[in-house]
Amino acid sequence: MNFCSHCGARVATLTPPGDHLPRFVCESCGTIHYQNPKLIVGCVPEYAGQILLCRRAIEPRLGYWTVPAGFMENGETLQQAAARESREEALADVEILSLLSVVHVIHAHQVHVFFRARLREPSFGPAPESLEVKLVPHAAIPWGELAFPSTEFTLRRYLEDLASGSDAHHFTEFDRRLQAGRVKP
Ligand SMILES: [Zn+2]
Repeated sequence: MNFCSHCGARVATLTPPGDHLPRFVCESCGTIHYQNPKLIVGCVPEYAGQILLCRRAIEPRLGYWTVPAGFMENGETLQQAAARESREEALADVEILSLLSVVHVIHAHQVHVFFRARLREPSFGPAPESLEVKLVPHAAIPWGELAFPSTEFTLRRYLEDLASGSDAHHFTEFDRRLQAGRVKP
C-alpha cells in the first residue's frame, strides 16, 4: 500500500504505540490500515461416487484442476460462500454438508476452508472462470494436475475419510517462505 484510501496521502510503515507489528499508517489523517488474512471457501461436491472438478480459466494456475472455491464476501456465511462459488464456477447447485478442512496458507495471507457437499442433480457446466467442469471418479482424480496444495490436501483427506467411514475435519498449514529456506520476518 502506498496511499491512504481515506484521504489519498502517502502512508508510512511503522508500528503504532501499543501494537506489536508494523502497519501502514497514514501520515496525514492518522488512519491505521490493518491487513488481515483473507478467507477462501470451497467444497467437494459429490454425485454418485464422483467428484465435481473445475479446470481453471484464470491465473493463478490456469489450466489446472480444483474444486469450486473462491473469496468469501461480506454478509455471507462460510456455507453460503461455498455454495455460491459452486454456482459461479461450475453452474452447480450443491447442498453444503460437514466441515472437511482448514488450510492456513501462511505465505499468501489466506485461510482456505472446505466443506463436504452433495450435488443436488447432475447439472453443471463451465462458467467464465472455468475452462471445463466434470464429474471425476475417485480413482481418476488428476493428482499431478491439481491447482493448489490445499486442493490436494483436501481431496486426500476426503477420500481417506470416505474409506474409513469418518466425518472428521482436518487442519494443516503451508508456508512457502519456510520451504524456500528463508527465515520468517
Ligand atoms: Zn489518510
